[in-house]
Amino acid sequence: MAQSYDAIVIGGGHNGLVTAAYLARAGKKVLVLERRHVLGGAAVTEEVFPGFRFSVCSYVVSLLRPEIIRELDLPRHGLEILPLDGTFTPMPNRDHLWRMSDHARTRREIYRHSPTDAEAYDEYSKAMVDMARFVKPILSMVPPDPFSFDLAGFGRLLEMGNRFRGLARTSQHNLVQLMTMSAADMLDQWFETDVLKATMSASGIIGTFLGVRSPGTAYVLLHHYMGEIDGAFRSWGFSRGGTGAISLAIAGAAQEAGVEIRTDAAVARVRTRNGKATGVVMANGDEIEARLVVSSADPRVTFVKLCEPGILPAEFLADVNHFKYRGSSGKVNLALDGLPDFKCMPGPGAHLRGAISISPAVEYMERAYDDAKYGDFSRRPYIDMVIPSLTDPSVAPPGKHVLSCFVQYAPYKLREGTWDEKREAFGDTVVDTVSEYAPNLKKLILHRQVLTPLDLEREWSLSEGNIFQGELSLEQLFFLRPVAGWARYRTPLRNLYMCGSATHPGGGIMGAPGRIAALEILKDWDRGKVA
Ligand SMILES: Cc1cc2nc3c(=O)[nH]c(=O)nc-3n(C[C@H](O)[C@H](O)[C@H](O)COP(=O)(O)OP(=O)(O)OC[C@H]3O[C@@H](n4cnc5c(N)ncnc54)[C@H](O)[C@@H]3O)c2cc1C
Repeated sequence: MAQSYDAIVIGGGHNGLVTAAYLARAGKKVLVLERRHVLGGAAVTEEVFPGFRFSVCSYVVSLLRPEIIRELDLPRHGLEILPLDGTFTPMPNRDHLWRMSDHARTRREIYRHSPTDAEAYDEYSKAMVDMARFVKPILSMVPPDPFSFDLAGFGRLLEMGNRFRGLARTSQHNLVQLMTMSAADMLDQWFETDVLKATMSASGIIGTFLGVRSPGTAYVLLHHYMGEIDGAFRSWGFSRGGTGAISLAIAGAAQEAGVEIRTDAAVARVRTRNGKATGVVMANGDEIEARLVVSSADPRVTFVKLCEPGILPAEFLADVNHFKYRGSSGKVNLALDGLPDFKCMPGPGAHLRGAISISPAVEYMERAYDDAKYGDFSRRPYIDMVIPSLTDPSVAPPGKHVLSCFVQYAPYKLREGTWDEKREAFGDTVVDTVSEYAPNLKKLILHRQVLTPLDLEREWSLSEGNIFQGELSLEQLFFLRPVAGWARYRTPLRNLYMCGSATHPGGGIMGAPGRIAALEILKDWDRGKVA
């Protein structure tokens, strides 16, 4: 046992790297071990086909915490966020809805569909900003534990209660609705234009096995809206060089602080002695010692696969086994010989530079879910597309483009057959669906990569292919993420911590779980609890 560290971080996704960077900046000797050949986890850029670099999984960014960008000085390490201008929704009747970052232009566009909705849009935007402001501090907070006697936690709960009481009556009302309603029902209260409600409701179902009419999805909508009130661009953006460039910028900051990073380094087991984590055993049999281990993998991987049987309390493992993954998304990445030409707005133009959403009607969205509910992928799926090569030409050869399609629903559990048998049929369905709106697409395709939930599980260790390491549903958030009583980055195994998206505040390229986990670990260190 030659090697010894203060901390080993399992997983070189962006959260693992954030944790490592903060620990090293506090003077700890840190090692990051990543199973794959490349860093980034689900925030990764890979040259899937020669000359074409894809943000293979996550493709847009908005929630990356400003304090992390600042404290780790990420721009100096190569982070550059380019604006993603708006969302374009083509419609089957050759009309479209195009919401832009410019509020006034969006308002005019909505007016074209419904003057009443244009009025309501102003009010809605204000209400969402109010609610996001209320909820946002929670993103940087250690969740209080209502199940234990924790004075600091009670203080935080009390403060939230007081802030709630300080909200205007309508905001209080809106917030309660948001916590309890479906995205579509909530939007029905504000708007009448079907395509507007369908496109907006899509944010409520990303990464969940729920439909736009399922209660609880309104809150997820707010979670995704939150980034829009951050920072300079007030909206979603691309990272130059793909989302992997975010992870690499964090890795750069971590290495500068002294972190050692190894790829192609799969951990097989967390090593324990006397009920404490003492390091890891690698897949090749090597053992590496550390005073503590932090896992950025999801709870099933961390506690069921990497921890020795019998080491964790049965009650805790039962809760871990109840944590819901239920992956529901797939990804289709296309290398293109040119740009798709939309029937409703022919030719190239700014509408191709933002997100392009195949979400023509609320019923379309709900029917897409119906297929998944009964164990099939959606015959007519919801698709969120981006063409990053228009904003960042470095990712494709001159004149060529990369098109990334995020797709729902692709249920992990199929009623018939396997994903290995159905992968290409799923890819065909996605291409056929987009081709209904942009008929030239098929002849532009040079290469195609289709990722099913099974691929996300196999290649990225995301259990059941859940893109957020576990559903972002209300019953799995805040002090319940991942497990009641263990939502504060600590685990029942002493010196084993968690820091990935399965912990508060959840998934997305945020870095928040990684940062809060590191600060909590450092507190334990200061209090002498790491032994
Ligand atoms: C298809 C898809 C699309 C998405 N789209 C977006 C988007 O557009 N915007 C957005 O904000 N978010 C998006 N997300 C979510 C976001 O990418 C994730 O929530 C986030 O990247 C997770 O980061 P993480 O560091 O917590 O975990 P991960 O990225 O899951 O990292 C965990 C790492 O641990 C490694 N690992 C696991 N087991 C071991 C082991 N035994 N030994 C060593 N290493 C191990 C894994 O290989 C992985 O690299 C998307 C995710 C997916 C999958």
